[in-house]
Amino acid sequence: MTQRPMKFRTRAIHDGNSIDPQTGAVVPPIHLASTFRQPGAGEWGEFDYSRSGNPTRSNLQATLNSLEGAVGSLAFSSGMAATHCVTMLLGNGDHVVAGKDIYGGTYRLLHKICDRNGISVTLVDMTDLDAVAAAIQPNTKLLWAETIGNPLFSIPNLTALAELAHSRGALIGVDNTFGTPVLVRPLEFGIDIVMHSATKYLGGHSDCLGGTLSVAVKELYDRLYFVQNATGAVLDPFSSFLIGRGLKTLDVRIREQSKTAARLADWLAAHPRVSRVYYPGLTSHPGHELAARQFDGIYGAMLGFELAGDFKATAAMVGKTHLFHLAVSLGAVESLIEQPASMSHASYDPADRAKAGISDALVRLSVGLEDFDDLRQDIEQAIESV
Ligand SMILES: *Cc1c(COP(=O)(O)O)cnc(C)c1O
Repeated sequence: MTQRPMKFRTRAIHDGNSIDPQTGAVVPPIHLASTFRQPGAGEWGEFDYSRSGNPTRSNLQATLNSLEGAVGSLAFSSGMAATHCVTMLLGNGDHVVAGKDIYGGTYRLLHKICDRNGISVTLVDMTDLDAVAAAIQPNTKLLWAETIGNPLFSIPNLTALAELAHSRGALIGVDNTFGTPVLVRPLEFGIDIVMHSATKYLGGHSDCLGGTLSVAVKELYDRLYFVQNATGAVLDPFSSFLIGRGLKTLDVRIREQSKTAARLADWLAAHPRVSRVYYPGLTSHPGHELAARQFDGIYGAMLGFELAGDFKATAAMVGKTHLFHLAVSLGAVESLIEQPASMSHASYDPADRAKAGISDALVRLSVGLEDFDDLRQDIEQAIESV
């Protein structure tokens, strides 16, 4: 029988999850040991100390390599720790070009932590290639985009950005938290580093924090591993296990949740009290065509809409849902609702928020695994109540 490569859903379950050779357990044990007995003085086995390497974390990283098409992956204590690791490749005098609608915490990291080390940042619309090209300086060492912009769902052209970055001698990293490897595997488009807040879809159940980096080049992996091992923000064994377990159902969760999100987007677009819907699956979305080419025929389970109302009406509405919990974060089986202006993007300076087009009336939904009719009814009664 000729071997053909296994499909994504199968690899998510089997790669990185070998039978335990000692017991035959079909689920590998969680290795809590912080240190490992060495073969002899000055001799090193596969593992020596859990910051440097841990079997449970290694299993998760092996699954990630398989799903992202990576040669190396690293798991961190949070998404921000993963992104911070990337910025630690930079030095004094270096410059970053980042998307103007990036995650609020990334904005804060770039503007309020990296600046202390003499790193400067320019925010630009990543869907405007001319603007990106113009923002790149001789000292630009890193481009940073999100595969689906946050919270306006902009879709950057990954191939074009990778070519642009490389032609100017810069690395390009993308935050694929909203996309997940089910929708898009950025390394296939020439992106150097793909990052996830594993807290979101990879874990998928709102019960642990984590972050990941995956890369296609060994030399880059070695540089990132050096920073991670030197600074220590690794993922603990129990969270590594939980995220690895989450990955087993990633494909089926994302596909189901995306279906429900697409139906909600259609319903909201026709609602008289809704002035605008942001969802890459809608043909009216400016990034729709690109999303159709880059994504695997589905558009994710995140969507945004603007209520025909002001900051106060919007703040009141998001507090009136029962199934959609009013909370930051996203990507889990339970649906969440939030107002970016007062929650996820409150760490932006108000002027930058306005420049990025993030309206006070914007509502962001993370569509979970509940039934479509129940979720629609929940949003409907909340809109009617304000
Ligand atoms: C949550 C999130 C992060 C940060 O991840 P943490 O796990 O909270 O540190 C980064 N990017 C995006 C798009 C996120 O949603």
